[in-house]
Amino acid sequence: QLARIKDLEDMVELELDVWMGVTGVASPVDIRVPFHKLQSVKIYLESQNIEFSIMIEDLQMLLDEEQEKMEAAASFAEPRNTDSFDYTNYHTLSEIYSFQDMLVAENPSLVSKLVIGQSYEGRPLNVLKFSTGGSNRPAIWIDTGIHSREWITQASGTLFAKKIANDYGQEPALTAILDKMDILLEIVTNPDGFYYTHTSNRMWRKTRKPNPGSSCVGVDPNRNWGIDFGGLGASNNPCSEVYHGPMAHSETEVKSIVDFVKSHGNIKSFISIHSYSQMLMYPYGYTTTPVKDQAELHALAEKAITDLATLYGTRYTYGNIIDTIYQASGCTIDWTYDQGIKYSYTFELRDTGHYGFVLPADQIVSTAEETWLALMAIMDHTLKNPY
Ligand SMILES: [Zn+2]
Repeated sequence: QLARIKDLEDMVELELDVWMGVTGVASPVDIRVPFHKLQSVKIYLESQNIEFSIMIEDLQMLLDEEQEKMEAAASFAEPRNTDSFDYTNYHTLSEIYSFQDMLVAENPSLVSKLVIGQSYEGRPLNVLKFSTGGSNRPAIWIDTGIHSREWITQASGTLFAKKIANDYGQEPALTAILDKMDILLEIVTNPDGFYYTHTSNRMWRKTRKPNPGSSCVGVDPNRNWGIDFGGLGASNNPCSEVYHGPMAHSETEVKSIVDFVKSHGNIKSFISIHSYSQMLMYPYGYTTTPVKDQAELHALAEKAITDLATLYGTRYTYGNIIDTIYQASGCTIDWTYDQGIKYSYTFELRDTGHYGFVLPADQIVSTAEETWLALMAIMDHTLKNPY
């Protein structure tokens, strides 16, 4: 049946959008189906004796609600500082950019903004740097939003930034981390895609660079890294949501991080945050061969998700990428791990598909709060286990 679902994914005429693909374990597959293809898909599934149910009857209704809520919130006066910023709502690119600038202005001795490059459409690739001094200290990297439609991730990133600024000097564990290490946070890792999700297509995942010879736009920036590039678990079809691109690091949004990581040379933990599925994973995605630090990474992942669950009982699965979710070549943390960054992890935040990519805004704060506990577990371990 899983093979038959895989066949379905390849039937381009059905215009399907696979939200959660076939995984290595027995878990549901989530697929967005255009209304005019519903009958064809149902007939196919029934002919293959594959059970199915409808999770979201009318996605457009959810999108309209989300949009109305955002517009209602935005009709209030613009926040003048990061205390009055509305963390309970989703925000546009320009709102997040101005949030970053306000946070820097309010915390000049702790927070600075690095511009590590430009997106394809010319937007700045901003990284917030939290540092209490020193030069080129060991650092922890966190990115959110490399897949633009995963809005809970950029929203959580905004809350992480505020939390770091607030907690330094107040909360002992974070203070200890920042006394020795820097934290680097890229909140909008795919700004062109993010802008597009607000203006044209809420379900946009990839970059926005045109593909010569194809009418389909964009590359999957989590298949574009120079590790097993073009291998299994990525597509060479520019119309695919997992198109790997013409060559490794072809996307400036990826290349800018590659160049930054190499020139920095002292990043000790690299955490790339996605949604959805509630998973915490370490390398590899391209091969079942275990990484040499598997035992340590596995134990730390268990600790992190255990801490996460203490707040609201949210349950995560964990393990290496290929066994926990599916095979993926050219993904971020396989590359960072092979650059020598031992504590390389990737998250899939809430939920498990009930709302999927359209997680209601009233779950932003709780999602960020629980995720923060897992991040702290990883950062604390990184601090205490120098290498
Ligand atoms: Zn993603």
